[in-house]
Amino acid sequence: MSFVQVQCTRCKGVFRDRAGRLQDGYSRQCPSCEVVLFFAEDAPHPFIKRAMRNARKVRKEQREAEAARLGAPQPQAAPSRRFAGRARTPQRSD
Ligand SMILES: [Zn+2]
Repeated sequence: MSFVQVQCTRCKGVFRDRAGRLQDGYSRQCPSCEVVLFFAEDAPHPFIKRAMRNARKVRKEQREAEAARLGAPQPQAAPSRRFAGRARTPQRSD
């Protein structure tokens, strides 16, 4: 899971939180001054806006990386692992 930097709107302290959590409606306390920060898509504060934007970007990059990883052909690995790509699907062949 990737983290993004969040800057506190009160003490200006910087901390990190998971990109997956920083979504509309999320709130958390600043570890330094303990003010509660509310994260919303339409937040007026530039610090919050920036954190939301970064989190969205990170989530998008993760999705794309995941899609690329799943969609890419398996590299030529050891012969015994030939079917590793197929075995990962939920369907069983037995
Ligand atoms: Zn703070």
